[in-house]
Amino acid sequence: MENTFALVTGGSRGLGRAVCLELAALGYNIIINYTANESAALETQRLVETIGVKGVTLRFNVADRMETRSTLTKWMEENQNSKISVLVNNAGIREDGLMMWMTDEQWDGVLDITVQGFFNVTKLVLDGMIKEKFGRIINMVSFSGLTGVPGQVNYSASKAAIIGATRSLSKEVGRRNVTVNAVAPGFIKTDMTEDLNEKDFKKTIAVGRFGKPEEVASVVGFLASEKAAYITGETISVNGGI
Ligand code: NAP
Repeated sequence: MENTFALVTGGSRGLGRAVCLELAALGYNIIINYTANESAALETQRLVETIGVKGVTLRFNVADRMETRSTLTKWMEENQNSKISVLVNNAGIREDGLMMWMTDEQWDGVLDITVQGFFNVTKLVLDGMIKEKFGRIINMVSFSGLTGVPGQVNYSASKAAIIGATRSLSKEVGRRNVTVNAVAPGFIKTDMTEDLNEKDFKKTIAVGRFGKPEEVASVVGFLASEKAAYITGETISVNGGI
């Protein structure tokens, strides 16, 4: 796997970092995308390299089509002997608010990163996977996109859109040995859920606690592995039984 890479968007922190480490442990070299937090991205790179694979940090805002294209295309052109076999569309934000008070910025901000981001990155990587006749695309969605959560109309809409895209794309590329799946976490302890009090929510979770990033990353690792070759178009919940 010397020249085989996994690209993890939002790989600098939280779930993304745990996914980078899980895929590194499977032997993939890792491209760690981030948008603002360079020191966190460099820390993920350091941790990945201690596992014994290559780590590369790439700064681009997935919502910015031109920036994503120019940065990723440049990397691909400079690394023509390398291939990206695994893509984890993980970058995401939360901007909660009831619909009646939701601003244009809250709506656009969440949709742009999750939905446009999915399109901007996947479109660039898919071609190589189809040519190689191998690929694993894993989209980080949320229980919110499956069940709906008040105050998250923007977030639920964005994640539900990606669940639909996962199903459709899986049907387009399955014959090329490219699988497309989604993972839907519940409440996981990261910066994103820092403002939520675990005590207030744990009554609603069967196992009685928030999850750890590694508990989601292990499912991503399974979906990326050869063992999951016959699973595609699925959304797998990892939510402790909400
Ligand atoms: P987090 O700790 O807030 O980390 C977010 C990551 O996304 C960071 O690496 C951040 O990069 C990156 N990012 C944000 N906007 C970006 C952009 N425009 N372009 C590129 N990267 C960007 O969040 P998390 O909890 O790990 O969440 C990761 C994913 O899991 C998200 O899609 C989220 O919706 C989903 N999820 C999380 C939970 C949960 O309970 N935590 C539950 C369900 C689903 P910087 O470090 O540069 O800011």
